[in-house]
Amino acid sequence: MDFFTEKILKFYLENSRSFFWREKKFNPFQILITELFLQRTRAETVDSKARDFIKRYSSPEHILSDSEKDIYDQVKDLGLGRRRTQALKEIAKYIHKELNGKIPQNKDKLLGIPHVGKYIANAVLCFTYNQKVEIIDSNVERVFGRYFGIEIVDRKKEREELEMLAKKLLPKKKIKDYNWGLLDFAALICTVKPKCNICSLNSRCQYYNNY
Ligand code: SF4
Repeated sequence: MDFFTEKILKFYLENSRSFFWREKKFNPFQILITELFLQRTRAETVDSKARDFIKRYSSPEHILSDSEKDIYDQVKDLGLGRRRTQALKEIAKYIHKELNGKIPQNKDKLLGIPHVGKYIANAVLCFTYNQKVEIIDSNVERVFGRYFGIEIVDRKKEREELEMLAKKLLPKKKIKDYNWGLLDFAALICTVKPKCNICSLNSRCQYYNNY
């Protein structure tokens, strides 16, 4: 196993953050909606303000049966209330009508759902269906950029390189632990102001050893 992968898995074992969506009791629809909220809002805020909503709306049909006002009243504290209400209604309608109420296990089909991009699709595949897929957000990009010495000038251009690298680093097992570990590592150690002195990757990190 790659040194990087091993250290991230170890980091997760010892330092994982606890969020409601990491508990086993949520279904693929609930995870998809949670990932939608996580796109524009800090994980800690989603954890404290969206738990009740996610518990209550466990299927597209639940969303469709309530009025926009009801939905709005419950998501407004997360921010982007109107936009999110609209998105939730569109997603629920599509899944109910086009997918028979079920969340697909196939990336192309997931990408057909309104408001679902690569990140959400991969998060659903990994965190609900345990598929071996990479999870890359801007924080993970920052970690890869620093550790592997990849200068991120144009995100679109470097994206392919980062995706290939991310795929190569995935462990054979414990994919969820690894991907959550990477997100936690980016949030707690390789932050905007990195905590290099306490970082378990520093001996091989390009950024730490070259600057
Ligand atoms: Fe990030 Fe510093 Fe660790 Fe490198 S040594 S991965 S820059 S925290």
